[in-house]
Amino acid sequence: MTRTTLDLYQKYRLQQVVNASGTFTPLGVSRSPEQVCEAVSAALRNYFIIDELQQVASDAIAEYSGAEAAAVTHCAAAGITLSIAAVMAGGNAEAVNDLPHRPPSNNDVVIPGTHVVNYGHEITQDIRLCGAYPRIAGDLEHCDLNTLEAALSKDNIACLLLVSSRLVRDQSLDINIAMELAHQRNIPVIIDGAAQDMRITELLDSGADLVVCSAHKYLAAATAGLIIGNKHHVDAALAHNKGIGRAMKATKEAIIGVLAALEVRRQLNFEQWSESQNKKVADFVAVANRIDGITARTQMDPAGMPIKRVVLEVNAIGFGMTARQLSEKLVGMQPPIYVMNHELDNSNLVLEIQTLERHELTQILESIRDSGR
Ligand SMILES: *Cc1c(COP(=O)(O)O)cnc(C)c1O
Repeated sequence: MTRTTLDLYQKYRLQQVVNASGTFTPLGVSRSPEQVCEAVSAALRNYFIIDELQQVASDAIAEYSGAEAAAVTHCAAAGITLSIAAVMAGGNAEAVNDLPHRPPSNNDVVIPGTHVVNYGHEITQDIRLCGAYPRIAGDLEHCDLNTLEAALSKDNIACLLLVSSRLVRDQSLDINIAMELAHQRNIPVIIDGAAQDMRITELLDSGADLVVCSAHKYLAAATAGLIIGNKHHVDAALAHNKGIGRAMKATKEAIIGVLAALEVRRQLNFEQWSESQNKKVADFVAVANRIDGITARTQMDPAGMPIKRVVLEVNAIGFGMTARQLSEKLVGMQPPIYVMNHELDNSNLVLEIQTLERHELTQILESIRDSGR
């Protein structure tokens, strides 16, 4: 932890937090590398022509992803809304002025019910924000390809699909076939790949018209979202910055932060990074397995990012409390320790420790050990 960070905690009497729950918005999402912090700080001291920044970012993201063009927006949520605005209304001045007023017919965005996630708010609100209407295929628990196909009609303005580890209810819908079904009807496909910044090329290659990505998650830029894909749609999305996008705009420091984060990513030695991540996780699992009542193992990120998680199975009798009780106890500690809670009913705590420092890992392991019998 840097000295400046420490000062903020002291100066404003803030709690320090151990975040083992991944790129979680209520906890500040990510830790940016020094190169990003410096670039953002420099950006804040100066004026820029924002259109020029957007163009430079578009070129850099295009080079990184193989896409035709890209736009930076406030966040991925904004990216979803502006992408839909772009494919629904195009970017002409009249449409830009009019949104979000749209007639309640032929402005449907189809989304599989199983992809209706709540990542802080329900994703259907991103659709409604620009005046489009969510048309949910199937229900929250089930949507197979037949159900999706039945919901698609040539009048739909877009099909919104998720590639996300948040699809914890049912991940079985084949995205590639889903995209094909939409394209057969000339419906553009927008993929919300908020945490998929290492897989953008793959998602574009599989046929997505636009991929929306969060720049502050694993890419660890300052707060920003990316809209990536064909130039026609990206330009239309940018045009809406003079309309509903005003409240969703990317700032100078955000765009510079994206550029710096892409540079860091380009310089990353992936093999070396993977190796050190694997060792970190393996060491943690080995120590955790020595705690009575805990069985630890690793698990790959379920949405395909090359990130290993730690799963701690809590044997309530052997350990002395349930997984849920342990999670609550950890949050009550000083500093609070946050883990992922989506597997508590299966007696599992899931942890993402990739960005944590050694003393934080020790803190987690000791806190768990001290909580048991
Ligand atoms: C985090 C997330 C978002 C929102 O990303 P922001 O950049 O914070 O707006 C959208 N969709 C999914 C699936 C997410 O996980």
